[in-house]
Amino acid sequence: MKSLITTSQLTRPALEALIERAIRVAEGGDQDAVALAGAAVATLFFEPSTRTRLSFELAARRLGADVVSFDLAGSSASKGESERDTVLTLAAMGPQILVVRHSTGGFPDQVEEWTGRAVVNGGDGSREHPTQALLDAVTLVRSLGRIDGLTMAIVGDVAHSRVAGSLMRVMPTLGAELVLAGPRHFLPDHHEFSVAGDLDEVVAAADVIYLLRVQRERGASEGKGYHRSWGLDARRAAAMRPHAVIMHPGPINRGVEISDEAADGPRSLILDQVANGVPTRMAVLATIAESLS
Ligand code: ASP
Repeated sequence: MKSLITTSQLTRPALEALIERAIRVAEGGDQDAVALAGAAVATLFFEPSTRTRLSFELAARRLGADVVSFDLAGSSASKGESERDTVLTLAAMGPQILVVRHSTGGFPDQVEEWTGRAVVNGGDGSREHPTQALLDAVTLVRSLGRIDGLTMAIVGDVAHSRVAGSLMRVMPTLGAELVLAGPRHFLPDHHEFSVAGDLDEVVAAADVIYLLRVQRERGASEGKGYHRSWGLDARRAAAMRPHAVIMHPGPINRGVEISDEAADGPRSLILDQVANGVPTRMAVLATIAESLS
């Protein structure tokens, strides 16, 4: 694997190999500790991020790489530099791997074309967020022991979510059944999954309730009464199957898609997802490093 731009490039064996590697790293195998020794990784984030950028940077450092970071706020972009010039400037510093986030779907492909470097997609518009879906898979395997045969309900602003874009490829490839739930204007025009008429219906049946933030920065708006209709609150969390779990990629909007009780309760894997982000990104970067040497 030279770059990781969309999950459509990942077959089931490739996904399973990355998941197993991430779990080995998470459970103490440090055999990858020097996979990127002497190399540099650049993170280029043209959109805000907390979890993804920090977790990639930590992952790169744990593999022995130096890290250079570009963050739109406070950069020369405000002095009128074009995005292409910004990318070429960072690439000229010599990093072997570029981690890119941008509000336009397809921007990471463009960066790969401009620079010829290995590129990891850290989220592009509403299109994909491959490492989020991978770390979610790692979290499920570590928490429930499997993905094959699970029913996952993806609830909320599916249409604008790049996380959903990646989950809708990765989870079925790994044998999960997906159900989408949310107001009609939050569901994609084209998809191959079943749709639940209301949240109570899926809550009673799913093994995983995966909640999404309303992507206001992409023009989405939840309207009044969203939490009552589509929010996971304490009553709904109590109605879930005994072993069922709650996931969310963050940032969470309490009182909109999720209540305090559901976010902080015993079924919530939200912080496990964050914790699994670092070993998952280490597995991705180490796998790419092998193709560079
Ligand atoms: N952090 C995720 C993303 O960048 C989810 C979200 O922002 O709602 O897509």
